[in-house]
Amino acid sequence: MSDLKLFNSLTRELVPFVPVHLGEARVYSCGPTVYNYQHIGNMRAYVFADTLGRVLSYKGYKLTHVINITDVGHLTSDADAGEDKMEKMAAAQGKTAWDIAAFYQADFEADLARLNIRKPAHPKATEYVDAMIEWGKEIADKHCYELDSGLYFDVCTVPEYGRLARAVTEDGEGRIEDVDGKRNKADFAIWRKTPAGETRQMEWDSPWGRGAPGWHLECSVMSKALLGMPFDIHTGGIDHREIHHPNEIAQNQAHEGCGDTGARIWMHNNFLVERSGKMSKSSGEFLRLQLLIDKGFHPLAYRLMCLQAHYRSELEFSWEGLQAAFVRLKRMVRQFENQRQRWEETIVYLISEDGELKSSVGPFEDMLLYPVVLEKLAAFNEAVSDDLNTSIALTVLEEVISTNKMEVSQKPWLLAKMLNVLGLNFCEISRNDLRVRPKGIVITEAEIEAALAQRKEARANKDFATSDRIRDDLIAKGVEVMDGDPLGWDWKLDI
Ligand code: AMP
Ligand code: ZN
Repeated sequence: MSDLKLFNSLTRELVPFVPVHLGEARVYSCGPTVYNYQHIGNMRAYVFADTLGRVLSYKGYKLTHVINITDVGHLTSDADAGEDKMEKMAAAQGKTAWDIAAFYQADFEADLARLNIRKPAHPKATEYVDAMIEWGKEIADKHCYELDSGLYFDVCTVPEYGRLARAVTEDGEGRIEDVDGKRNKADFAIWRKTPAGETRQMEWDSPWGRGAPGWHLECSVMSKALLGMPFDIHTGGIDHREIHHPNEIAQNQAHEGCGDTGARIWMHNNFLVERSGKMSKSSGEFLRLQLLIDKGFHPLAYRLMCLQAHYRSELEFSWEGLQAAFVRLKRMVRQFENQRQRWEETIVYLISEDGELKSSVGPFEDMLLYPVVLEKLAAFNEAVSDDLNTSIALTVLEEVISTNKMEVSQKPWLLAKMLNVLGLNFCEISRNDLRVRPKGIVITEAEIEAALAQRKEARANKDFATSDRIRDDLIAKGVEVMDGDPLGWDWKLDI
């Protein structure tokens, strides 16, 4: 048993991680509904899931991680009301639902890569519709009933429905909207029939008529197909603790024929919130990763911002907070880069595909014999083993980056290990890469440097009027001059 402890939402307590299959970790994360861009709140869920996966790999488990792609079945409400998200967007854009799905899936995958999230398996729900129909057939008699609008799951047929949500009302989850004829408010659709006289772009034949699967079914079916049941960990945002995951659990219980909830551990990241309102569309600017980049932030600054908070804490988004994370990132990258030049004079380092650092001069096996290395690795390990305490892990990382108590042969090995767990790929980026140019800024770096040289000369001649004029000119072009910048940046592009 490893020393890794994780918070299980089912029992609301920390539990040791004990794998179902010796030496393996199988993780399923609810993925995006690809009807629109993902906002950075959504991406927090994947930074968290990726960090969990990286910690499991670091602990030596062979990781299988699935993030499904919901390309069918998700209604505008998590319950069974509203329109189909995919079809609604397809109609709005005059495209097919399939084109919409392909476009936004590609965009999502690009964002994963920009956040240095390792590429997990991305199965699409539409590829599993036959398996969903089979699952429905197997549970229909004992657990479901048919209405004009589809096949519904009766939540009273499984023990302790809603245990995960700790639902307190008699009828189950209070937010669930009504569908005529449902036996219990919390009952949900396994299959949604296409209303008579209508056709959907995405529809299939089933024993309950032509239609589409209910959204919750796909995760039960895909997690079992790809990971087996029970599997180790199921993740998602905290909103899924209320409806989607209790419904998955109910389906799993019905299908597996016992009290088994499907996954041993259910983990939920808290929300990224924005003071002025919702993350997405409603507050004017749609906060997605591309917007951050357009404003001159490197995507890793957002990853770092997520890692600075515990995944179970709400994280408030602000541009100031992001800027602070960006400054911290720059400082680390600068220190890392300065030292890397020295290391590379001594040893040729190679980064293997799984992110481990190898050297051209032999293995690092004796590294743990050095107390200074052992002490830092122990502190780092303790942090990440404590329900992924990444904020403490980051401080240990910074201590290692800045210490001068380690030798050239020791530091890179330790740093590569830590950076890999945190998904900060400093071996692949340089200070220059962090100078992201905001969209719409036309001035070139050469022009900025030339203006700064003139300003320096003016200041040397005590011609402060000229110096101020140059500074104001630059500000007007979006360039903030930073005299005595402790990070060694003389200027930054203003946002
Ligand atoms: P969706 O596409 O709505 O199913 O969301 C994809 C993932 O993002 C799910 O795991 C959600 O729980 C999660 N999520 C949605 N909004 C936020 C947010 N503001 N902060 C963190 N996670 C979120
Ligand atoms: Zn799901």
